[in-house]
Amino acid sequence: MPAPQLRLFNSLTRTLEPFAPASPDGAVGLYTCGPTVYNYLHVGNYRTYVFEDSLRRGLEFLGLNVRHVMNVTDVGHLTSDADEGQDKLELGAAREGKTAWEIAAFYTQTFVEDSQKLNLLPPDVLCRATGHIPEQIALVRRLEEKGVTYRTADGVYFDTAKFPGYGRMAGGRAHFEGLQEGARVQVNEEKRNPTDFALWKFSPADAKRQMEWDSPWGRGFPGWHLECSAMAMKYLGETFDIHCGGVDHIPIHHTNEIAQAEAATGKPFVRFWLHGEFLVVNKAKMAKSAGGFIRLADLEAKGFDPLDYRYFCFGAHYRRQLEFSWEALEAAQTARRKLRERCLELAKLPAGEAPAALDAFRERIADDLDMPGALASVWDALRALPLEGQHGFLKEADRVLGLRLFAPVDDRLPEELQALFDRYCASRKAKDFASSDSLRKELAGKGVRIKDTREGSTWVRG
Ligand code: AMP
Ligand code: ZN
Repeated sequence: MPAPQLRLFNSLTRTLEPFAPASPDGAVGLYTCGPTVYNYLHVGNYRTYVFEDSLRRGLEFLGLNVRHVMNVTDVGHLTSDADEGQDKLELGAAREGKTAWEIAAFYTQTFVEDSQKLNLLPPDVLCRATGHIPEQIALVRRLEEKGVTYRTADGVYFDTAKFPGYGRMAGGRAHFEGLQEGARVQVNEEKRNPTDFALWKFSPADAKRQMEWDSPWGRGFPGWHLECSAMAMKYLGETFDIHCGGVDHIPIHHTNEIAQAEAATGKPFVRFWLHGEFLVVNKAKMAKSAGGFIRLADLEAKGFDPLDYRYFCFGAHYRRQLEFSWEALEAAQTARRKLRERCLELAKLPAGEAPAALDAFRERIADDLDMPGALASVWDALRALPLEGQHGFLKEADRVLGLRLFAPVDDRLPEELQALFDRYCASRKAKDFASSDSLRKELAGKGVRIKDTREGSTWVRG
């Protein structure tokens, strides 16, 4: 069967469109907005990154090469989207008694570690906003030359009235009408239009910022949206294939990225915009400020493998909200373990071919990355195929699922866990069941399950 036509839902046109890379021989240029590194990420953030990773894997599975660029926002993201309030990084520094640079380094590292646990493929380029100040200044200069900027007492702003088609992706000017009314209570009186946004903000006259740079307009720091336009164009060219983020980025961040890039170059910035829906708790978006903030470490502490969460994410299409619940996560854990145990058995056999099952799986991926459908086709294949076929099929499918289904089993525990396990065995031998119970729970919380047999106790991971 010929490869199915890949179709993706483009937020720009709000339709499913056939996708092929702009340069047929080159790689697909993929830019994904990364985290603001002032705090731990919650599992809601990771839903978006699991979606983007599946997209990248799906494109590669369908035979395309991908060049993936992701940024890390380590300066300039203010507490209010209206370019007011404090820099989240400087705020994090004050909260923890560290420098803004230390905060950025620490939370970038936690993000990288979590990403490895979720088996997110590392981007080809992971770029920091603070590492690209000259590129951002150059972009503001270009915009200045085009006459679409103006200065106020606190910075250089983009004049959105001078960019025809501003806000197209968010539904056009009508979408911003509410904002126009809100303009009366706007803090920054000097802004010409409520939708105007900062390209460069000046450091306050009365306080020294930790992160600031000289520029042609004065000492300060770049506006949050600027970094993504500047770095995406640096690494992927002035027009590239796919740009992703969460749906919350449509009305402001991505709208402003488009305005900056297209006003500067006069060319379309991005061909396809893809947005992931939220992870919700009791129908409300999981957010750093809200009560239901759950980290990957919280899942691990309850005995979940991060890959259980990855599997859980495949439970809803990326354009639908996904409700978080511990019960649903447990169901994902059971299913993933079952799949994994099957694969450990299959690995002992030769891998056979399963073209029809693979076609069905490929079809689901090509249909706007239908991961729930792809997963269903995996279980169908397990019911229908002989063992060798299952082996060959699952090896291929796991290139997209990324569940490490065939990873070799660890046969040794790290020292700290081995010590806990030894204490468990000793307390069981001594019939101190209170201790052995609490050690069993502690080990489960660290991803080690104990199995007791008449011959003694053994353990398994995950
Ligand atoms: P931030 O660090 O706030 O810029 O967020 C990083 C990414 O996580 C962005 O792409 C957001 O759209 C996404 N995000 C934030 N909250 C959620 C959520 N509850 N569910 C899914 N994605 C989210
Ligand atoms: Zn961005």
